[in-house]
Amino acid sequence: MPAPPFEIVTDPGVLAGYLSDASNTRGHAEALVRPRSTAEVSAVVAWCQRHAIPLTVTAQRTSTTGGPVPEGGWLLSTERLDRVLAITDTHATAQAGVMLGAFQDELEARGRLYPPDPTSRDECSLGGSIACNASGARTYRYGPTRPWVEAVEVVLPTGEVRHADRSTPIPADWPRVAWTEPHVKTATGLYPADNLLDLFIGQEGILGVITQATVRLTARPERVFSVLIWFPSTPAGLDFVRAAKASAALSPRCLEWYDRHSLDLVRERVPEIPAAACAALWCEQECTEATQDALMEAWLAAIEASGALADDTLFADDPASLARLRAIRHAVPAGVNERVARNGMPKVGTDFAVPDRALDDMMAAYEATLLPHVLFGHVGDNHLHLNLLPRTPAELEQAWGIWRDLYARALAAGGTLSAEHGVGKLKRPYLAEMVGPEVISAFAALKRHLDPAWILGRGTMLGYQV
Ligand SMILES: Cc1cc2nc3c(=O)[nH]c(=O)nc-3n(C[C@H](O)[C@H](O)[C@H](O)COP(=O)(O)OP(=O)(O)OC[C@H]3O[C@@H](n4cnc5c(N)ncnc54)[C@H](O)[C@@H]3O)c2cc1C
Repeated sequence: MPAPPFEIVTDPGVLAGYLSDASNTRGHAEALVRPRSTAEVSAVVAWCQRHAIPLTVTAQRTSTTGGPVPEGGWLLSTERLDRVLAITDTHATAQAGVMLGAFQDELEARGRLYPPDPTSRDECSLGGSIACNASGARTYRYGPTRPWVEAVEVVLPTGEVRHADRSTPIPADWPRVAWTEPHVKTATGLYPADNLLDLFIGQEGILGVITQATVRLTARPERVFSVLIWFPSTPAGLDFVRAAKASAALSPRCLEWYDRHSLDLVRERVPEIPAAACAALWCEQECTEATQDALMEAWLAAIEASGALADDTLFADDPASLARLRAIRHAVPAGVNERVARNGMPKVGTDFAVPDRALDDMMAAYEATLLPHVLFGHVGDNHLHLNLLPRTPAELEQAWGIWRDLYARALAAGGTLSAEHGVGKLKRPYLAEMVGPEVISAFAALKRHLDPAWILGRGTMLGYQV
């Protein structure tokens, strides 16, 4: 093979920093490229296609599923595609490697809101969040990333550059991906798109490299207050969730659950947790100066009418109290990370969402888990993260057995494998169980058509097959 006409890095010391992600999956690669422009991305991808070099797109590696972890070949990092290109009142355009949190902060300083808010927003890239159709707490009100993306520029696996918005048709000779997604929050598999843009959102870097995106903005809410509500039991908490979702007086933008193990994990650090609390719900409500008092009263009335430990409720509406509530909330994942480090074993996490009717059964199944665990997450979307915390290799095996039982239960209820983290490499073996072999074949037919040497994201979502 001749020397490529662009810079590649082969220093193992540099490469070492790019070989794993937040799931601790480890991979290997021979070279790294860090293009600064779409033209450079195109040249790299065309070169790899011509020479059949596997190419994995890596952004900030916060993936929890091994998506950016290479199984050999080269890595294309988006880190130098880091420019915000344009901001208007209604839209913003940026390169894919821009950090999501910093981008959002810049927009909010101008009174505009780009709502998708993965918990990792300060550590992940705009392009990575679009490639995974990421969600966050605010998804309950605003939906996932998909509806907020207006257009992308993408480099196809042949090196061809395309612009796609929702009026761009999928070329007639491309094999179609037609299947019915479950009616729940989902980020599993290729989207059954009827336009080119939607095909590239949530494709996890297997159909093309997103080089820049234009996103839609809305008005930043004038004010937001938070409420932390404590419950003496899970049923009391779930009854409140249902009431809040049905209420005409309340319009939460998120409803986040913490089970008793989550609270136990941080009790020592968080004196505000009442001794009788077995579950907690953290909610945010947008408001204006004019509506805030009435909305706070409506929340208080709903809490007092429920089975909550009403007197212990924490409201926060000023910077100091909001920061305190946020610190309580962040103590839970930090506590999980500490426990994982102490155990010296990976955690095993669920990312299932189920329809409303299946929430109680699913919660009961999560809570019946005998291994050490914590359960928290987006209860408003029936999407909880059960984090199993095995202490020994035998428990790790047991944890995966529990994961598989829960997955079967979620599927039987009409749920999804992944509501927000994607399939990546770790969940690939379980995708066919949800979508069926014919849909996998349809995904593979499109992939093969666009990527004849199957170079891009090899091992992610689909097994390598040419
Ligand atoms: C602490 C923590 C909290 C998290 N919270 C959430 C959450 O609340 N909601 C949520 O949805 N996810 C969450 N995640 C998962 C992860 O942050 C998101 O999926 C994020 O969007 C990935 O962005 P990234 O820049 O790190 O991409 P990477 O992890 O580097 O890549 C992710 C995938 O996208 C592909 N990719 C990346 N950039 C591009 C591109 N420009 N073009 C094509 N393909 C590309 C990669 O090949 C890979 O398959 C969390 C992760 C962590 C570690």
